[in-house]
Amino acid sequence: MSQQALVLVTTPVAGIESASAFKVVDPATFHISAMDLAVTRGDGIFDVFGVRDGAPVNMDAHLARFARSAAMLDLPAPLESAWRPAIEAAIEAFGPGYGAVKLVMSRGIEGCGVPTGFIYVWSVEDEAALDLSGGISVVTLDRGYRHDVALTSPWLLQGAKTLSYAVNKSALREAARRGFDDVLFVSSDGYLLEGPTSSLILRIDGELFTPKHDLGILPGTTQIASFQVANSLGLTAREELLAVDALDRADAAWLTSSIRGAVPLRKVDDREYEIDSDLTARLNATVIRPS
Ligand code: PLP
Repeated sequence: MSQQALVLVTTPVAGIESASAFKVVDPATFHISAMDLAVTRGDGIFDVFGVRDGAPVNMDAHLARFARSAAMLDLPAPLESAWRPAIEAAIEAFGPGYGAVKLVMSRGIEGCGVPTGFIYVWSVEDEAALDLSGGISVVTLDRGYRHDVALTSPWLLQGAKTLSYAVNKSALREAARRGFDDVLFVSSDGYLLEGPTSSLILRIDGELFTPKHDLGILPGTTQIASFQVANSLGLTAREELLAVDALDRADAAWLTSSIRGAVPLRKVDDREYEIDSDLTARLNATVIRPS
């Protein structure tokens, strides 16, 4: 069995529980109730970051986004005093190597009012060993929401990292059916959004752009870190409302995410892009994918 670790976290809720507690358990046996709303409705949140030989990658940004997702779902704020020691225990139980740390908090067992929390760490050595330096192909798919959905319909939770990723996975299967490796979602009114598990970066006239974070998309920690690297290299990098035709003006593009880092795109639909191996390596060299 591949290397993995599971830690159950008691998530304190004001008035119900004051102390934080966790226990390291066997990941191969059952721990989550069949009545948990994570299981029955996907009602909860998660976040994922990398860990390399015991060192978490960009963890604070992920904890901040976990708290943001909780607020969007009206879940209690995840107390860092409860989660940080539990994360440390999970990382220690996992041991050395390259892993992914998944933080999960659901609304708990229906009617109970106490969230369920757990942390799962698994090996991503195989994923990291995949050579994506030659670039991947991406198909644009309509997400079916307008670009202003987060403003007009916040109850749709666009931009929260919820446990309901069935649609994201379905989009990836559609890409495979069409002969592509990945997906770029586009709003129903023609603006670029994000991938099902990644953020988009385009290079246009020597500047880097990413779709504005208020478009009902997840603010990507890897994209944000990439822009910091780009700035340190003297490149201008900014969020912008990008219509689909920005794809025609770009000469290079990437999908970024915590475990894979910045992956260059060789093709979006029938548009072909240059692979800038040097910039890709620089984006991946620091906080994103330290080796
Ligand atoms: N957008 C979506 C919908 C995602 O699920 C993810 C990551 O899983 C990202 C963007 C990229 O986020 P990060 O770079 O923090 O991994």
